Amino acid sequence: MSSVSLRGVSKSYGGSVAVRDVNLEISEGEFIVLLGPSGCGKTTTLRMIAGFVDPTAGQILLGGKDVTRLPPRKRDIGMVFQNYALFPNMNVAENIAFGLRRRGAPRETIKARVEELLDLVHLSSQADYHIDELSGGQQQRVALARALAHTPSVLLMDEPLGALDLKLREQLQEEILRIKKTLGITTILVTHDQQEAMALADRIVLMDKGEIRQAGTADNLYRRPASPFVAGFIGKRNEIPADVAGMGDQLIARASDGTILVIGLPDDHPLGGKVTINLRPEHLILSREPGEACSDHTSLSATVTGKRFLGNVVHYELTLPWGEAVLSESRDGDHAVGDSVFVSFAHSDIVMFPEDSAGRRK
Ligand code: ATP
Repeated sequence: MSSVSLRGVSKSYGGSVAVRDVNLEISEGEFIVLLGPSGCGKTTTLRMIAGFVDPTAGQILLGGKDVTRLPPRKRDIGMVFQNYALFPNMNVAENIAFGLRRRGAPRETIKARVEELLDLVHLSSQADYHIDELSGGQQQRVALARALAHTPSVLLMDEPLGALDLKLREQLQEEILRIKKTLGITTILVTHDQQEAMALADRIVLMDKGEIRQAGTADNLYRRPASPFVAGFIGKRNEIPADVAGMGDQLIARASDGTILVIGLPDDHPLGGKVTINLRPEHLILSREPGEACSDHTSLSATVTGKRFLGNVVHYELTLPWGEAVLSESRDGDHAVGDSVFVSFAHSDIVMFPEDSAGRRK
């Protein structure tokens, strides 16, 4: 049985659709990240799971129980918001205890649970601090502890790290992963930051214009994107327009100037006609000597037009027969701007998309 099920869930505001026919099954203990550009419907989806927004259509189940029409307090969830939403007139321990008090839990139970949570979020020595005495990162830990206080079965987080600077965000990501591992709680987090999604998620659900475009592991979305939108949203890519045609008993892809890009596409390759070849920057390999062009590799001449040293990687900009490309190397191959070089890539690293019927490359 799924921990959370969304079945045909939609939400419209007046005539405009915020979320359209979302279907998602989330397993017990899974860490799901709802990812997508601003306005794609991820917060609305989360708020429907929480019960703050009523779906226009569809069903929401938590632990197999239909909660579609239940208010938030009757759902077994804990919620963390971007702006912490803490009570400024209460200290840390009182904030964490708030929900338990409201539920009428015995005093001793509350005390023990608050101590346990303070320990979990590493704030035991700040129990008496007022909220305005804490840093942003510490405030978000209090919010996390408060959301977990009543031992919910699902933790929902809406851009929880959005207000923090990069360093703190990375620290808190580690904390969230540690806590999730310790508690084994099903977690759904909303972010527009693809790196954050990749760092945290067991499964990323990538949304656009109110719909799920692809759901899968970070690895799966990065290596096997289902559409150009997914390929462009998760990571950087080089896009090469090409024409695929038969040559003898092989399929070949040519760039617009006639340069042969790929000889011998795999037998099961369903594409012909106009396509876009997608290659990640790290899949282009730079060398001084031409590589061997064969059925599983391509080697092309290029000129280095830009170089940026970024510490762990070096980014090169290149001019190739079809236009511009970027590539990144984990070790500096010592190429300089203006150098004539060769670029090769393995055909197994290519992801190809067809041009749609309207003539756009999808
Ligand atoms: P962001 O990252 O900017 O928060 P999001 O992906 O979370 O974006 P939503 O907040 O879910 O997107 O909004 C999806 C769409 O629904 C947007 O077009 C938004 O303007 C619209 N929308 C959201 N809430 C309301 C509302 N209360 N009334 C009218 N339209 C709304």
